[in-house]
Amino acid sequence: MTEFDLVVVGGGVTGAGVARDAALRGLKVALVEKARPGGGTTATSTHLIHGGVRYLLYDRLTTHSSCWDSGHIVRTSGDLLTRLPIVWPVYKGHARGLETVETMFEEYDRFQPMKYGRPHLRLTPEAALKIVPGLTAEGLLGAIAFDEWWVDAEALARRTLESAQAAGAEVFLDAPATEILKEGGRVAGIRAGGRELRGKITVNAAGPWIDKVSTLAGVRTPLRLMKGTHLIYKNKALTPVGLLLEAEGKNRYVFVVPSPLGTWVGPTDLPGPDDPDETRTTDDEIGYLTRSVKRYFASWPERHDSTIVGSRPILGQPGSEKQLSRDFEVYDHESRDGLGGFLTIGGGKMSDYRIMAETAVDEVCRKLGVSAACRTQSLTLDGKPVTDIPDWPHPSPDLKKFLRTKPLLRELHALSYLGAGFATHLARRAAGLTPISDENEFRRRYQ
Ligand SMILES: Cc1cc2nc3c(=O)[nH]c(=O)nc-3n(C[C@H](O)[C@H](O)[C@H](O)COP(=O)(O)OP(=O)(O)OC[C@H]3O[C@@H](n4cnc5c(N)ncnc54)[C@H](O)[C@@H]3O)c2cc1C
Repeated sequence: MTEFDLVVVGGGVTGAGVARDAALRGLKVALVEKARPGGGTTATSTHLIHGGVRYLLYDRLTTHSSCWDSGHIVRTSGDLLTRLPIVWPVYKGHARGLETVETMFEEYDRFQPMKYGRPHLRLTPEAALKIVPGLTAEGLLGAIAFDEWWVDAEALARRTLESAQAAGAEVFLDAPATEILKEGGRVAGIRAGGRELRGKITVNAAGPWIDKVSTLAGVRTPLRLMKGTHLIYKNKALTPVGLLLEAEGKNRYVFVVPSPLGTWVGPTDLPGPDDPDETRTTDDEIGYLTRSVKRYFASWPERHDSTIVGSRPILGQPGSEKQLSRDFEVYDHESRDGLGGFLTIGGGKMSDYRIMAETAVDEVCRKLGVSAACRTQSLTLDGKPVTDIPDWPHPSPDLKKFLRTKPLLRELHALSYLGAGFATHLARRAAGLTPISDENEFRRRYQ
């Protein structure tokens, strides 16, 4: 029987990131995954490495921190990422008008360089119709274009795990953790897939299953699971670019994402069941997504080919469902619950999985008394050195944590920037300083 420094439960992008980070610091690591790498929530995501422009409305620091870490992911993940131009068409009667939407993107432009994103463009209606053939012309006032990175999310988890293995980590697939071993009041490892894996520290990185796994240890990690469904059309490019569309019912938005995996429409964002294994797509979700996309296209396929659903592992917190912070946290069950040797990492997004892992492994090293610096930002997934790492400022983790529990204050913080931005935008617009571009400028900028 081998004794590991660290045993990781969960081989989604988060657990894979933790295993890679720890192995690169020289720790002896084992990771167990109950199914296949990245096959949980990671596979059901919209597959974007992005800052989440929507969070600028109520959780600006998450946009900042996701863009910051996305830059590291772009530098280290190479050909797994593709630049995806996205068009947001604005129509008469939409909840958010062109000036408001453009103000959001002027704010987003501040963070875009962190992840090698290009500044937004405001487009004429004619340009939007040329870029997105078949888009409804009636009522179209114009559009905003911006870009994000598309990633094959399962491949990102798989390649991160392969990088961990190359650095010495042992990975066990089809190995559900069914028992948390305890000795002398501490967690001493796990039993998984018929094996006993003993570890000085165990990290629970099971995404939406973290509460189920921590319950095995007799402690709780409450989440506010929000389920999300996408419709999948086999045709890889029903639209030539991505779209962000105001959905049926206003104040709700869906992406249309053309990709090698097909064209994805979604996601929904609804309170999910507490048990992620019970998460299912409903006919209501399918109807909502279908109607939301079809109202923009006179001709759109009658039927989708399949659906995919997952649970967002959002931290337990106060506030309305529409404004939940996507911040992450590493729980130390020793200081929290009196149970040594056990950490849980929860919340976050795929777009900041690297810093999530770094934060968790910093804590592991502190507990083990090991001083070894994080290397995940300075080596690509296939082991090449990364040079020229810009020194962008990172938002204060303490401020993020403070605002997470104060939803009103967090919204005010975000809106104060947007309010000031809106005044500046209107003044610049009145002075003729906000250009409106055509399709040629769009192609020059994003292709
Ligand atoms: C609809 C939707 C859209 C999203 N879109 C985006 C996006 O575009 N960009 C973005 O950045 N983020 C997005 N997210 C969020 C992102 O997908 C998640 O934050 C991220 O994938 C979580 O990764 P994870 O590794 O923590 O969880 P998971 O990917 O769920 O991994 C957890 C793993 O633990 C395993 N596991 C569970 N229990 C056990 C056990 N007992 N033993 C062993 N293994 C176990 C599971 O099989 C699973 O593979 C989206 C989320 C959803 C739901």
